[in-house]
Amino acid sequence: MSAPAVAAPGTVIVAIDGPAGSGKSSVSKQAARRLGYGYLDTGAAYRALAWHALEHGIDTSDAASVLDVASDFDYAISLDPDAYWVRVGGTDVTDAIREPRVSDAVSGVARVPAVRESVNALFRALVAGSGRPGVVVEGRDITTVVAPDAPVRILLTAAPEVRAARRSAELTHQDAAAVAAALHRRDASDSTVVDFLTAAPGVEVVDSTDLDFDQTVDAVLDVIDNTLGASADGPVQTGARDGS
Ligand code: C5P
Repeated sequence: MSAPAVAAPGTVIVAIDGPAGSGKSSVSKQAARRLGYGYLDTGAAYRALAWHALEHGIDTSDAASVLDVASDFDYAISLDPDAYWVRVGGTDVTDAIREPRVSDAVSGVARVPAVRESVNALFRALVAGSGRPGVVVEGRDITTVVAPDAPVRILLTAAPEVRAARRSAELTHQDAAAVAAALHRRDASDSTVVDFLTAAPGVEVVDSTDLDFDQTVDAVLDVIDNTLGASADGPVQTGARDGS
């Protein structure tokens, strides 16, 4: 699907792309909180579909089987940055979709073009129905495919070794070398589908290699303020942040 995002009139989309370990999920969530915006984690949909496929014993490298199981995928996600959850059918899968077996399977699911099209349509519907003044949408192809016309588009990057170190600090129960290897494997596999390491024209780069979490959030909020503040009818000013 190539149509641009359609949001409710006045819904501001802040599009944030970036690779695993760049901090995009936690930074996007905090930026949304500070702005009173919704937060949409797009990777969760691919993860939830991978979880759903595994529940059905599907080989996620087989596109036909993935498409088959995708036809019966009842997905829901919260856009509230203070109450994040993900459900498939009646099951809360918020934690289950972070398990290594799901991370290992997700690239196979995300590689299927028809899956990407239907998931992208879902994202646009979620943004349009958010009921918020804006939504921070984060993923790997948000600035280029899902919301190429978003008023704010940011690529959040970090050096590979820093990303691997952050990810292994999150997954304390797993071996650091194994976490780094899995992250590099997933980067390599994902980058054959979406170039998430190069900023498209008009996309602002925020490099978090030498920034801590708060500094990265501030850098992202600065880009948002500068961009929306520069447009005559930009609905967000610096003072709109609640400072929490
Ligand atoms: O961001 P996260 O690591 O949760 O994403 C999980 C996976 O979902 C990625 O490795 C990628 O395969 C896929 N994905 C994608 N496009 C997005 C978001 C995630 O292909 N917009």
